[in-house]
Amino acid sequence: MSCSLAIILKTVNRNSLIVKQNTIMKLGIIIPCYNEEEGLSETTKQLQLLIDVMMNENKISKDSFVCYVDDGSKDNTWQLIEGFKQSNPIFKGIKLSRNFGHQNALIAGLMQLKDSADALISMDADLQDDVNIVKDFVQKYSEGYDVVYGVREDRSQDTKFKRGTAEFFYKFQRFMGIETIHNHADYRLLSKKALEALSQFKEVNLFLRGIVPLLGFRSCSIHYSRGERFAGETKYPLKKMILFALEGITSFSIIPLHMITIIGFILFIFSLVAIVWVAVEKVFFGDAVQGWASTMISIYFIGGIQIMSLGIIGEYIGRNFQEGKRRPRYIIDKEV
Ligand code: UDP
Ligand code: MG
Repeated sequence: MSCSLAIILKTVNRNSLIVKQNTIMKLGIIIPCYNEEEGLSETTKQLQLLIDVMMNENKISKDSFVCYVDDGSKDNTWQLIEGFKQSNPIFKGIKLSRNFGHQNALIAGLMQLKDSADALISMDADLQDDVNIVKDFVQKYSEGYDVVYGVREDRSQDTKFKRGTAEFFYKFQRFMGIETIHNHADYRLLSKKALEALSQFKEVNLFLRGIVPLLGFRSCSIHYSRGERFAGETKYPLKKMILFALEGITSFSIIPLHMITIIGFILFIFSLVAIVWVAVEKVFFGDAVQGWASTMISIYFIGGIQIMSLGIIGEYIGRNFQEGKRRPRYIIDKEV
């Protein structure tokens, strides 16, 4: 009797395991858009094609979706999104009340939809990131990975300037002790579990590339070559890029503050030596030179370092000020 019960239980267990393995995952793709009217139709066309294929191959469930997050666009981006929704229910849209910036638009989409799918993929609207990699992302997810990073192998399509500045930024970040995945931007898959963990990070100054590696979980990378922007121009001009880089450093590293302390200490020792040296010259040799130049130089030197140090400290106080207010990271106007 107990033996047959054990057999029945075993069979039930095995069957439930099989069902779990065979469950088709529900995928969501989140795409932040800011003034993307020129390229969005093409992006939609390509995604629709891809999703149809994946649905037919039973790689993703029939209720998988693509959600555009309109980050306060001033052009017809939102009207386009509403149109996509009408022509095909796999498309969804979230309209933010104003422009909150790429990272905030991304977190808006991820947080709003984290409970509606098994995993979410974030992607740019401009087709610079190969959409076919989505298949590999899903494959890795089914192999049990919770975080899959898209890594740009070949950036020859980016401008020299963009490549150079990006390279400098990655190196500088590493120097500052910030762990990010080299050549990975915001093209990645996050499982529901990883998204749940991400929702616990409440910071207002967002730098997702720095946060995601802190989540932990099983992760891997997929390499692809980065294409050209399909249409329109970059929404990251130099000024935004510098601010973003600064965000990445000041919200993840306190090494600049340590450096100020170290520079201050070295200068302090240096000035002590100088005082002793001047005293010795005066007392024993009586010929201390009252140099105007050296005085002026040291005033400028110390002054410069002081102002720079105050600036860096100010950056951190500024972050604290912003985080302390706990303002919402995004505000939704409407959803379709
Ligand atoms: N983006 C956004 N809000 C912004 C700036 C950009 O939602 O304030 C979106 C933009 O529409 C695109 C993605 O973020 O889908 C990345 O921007 P972009 O392609 O211009 O950056 P780049 O590839 O040049 O670094
Ligand atoms: Mg781009």
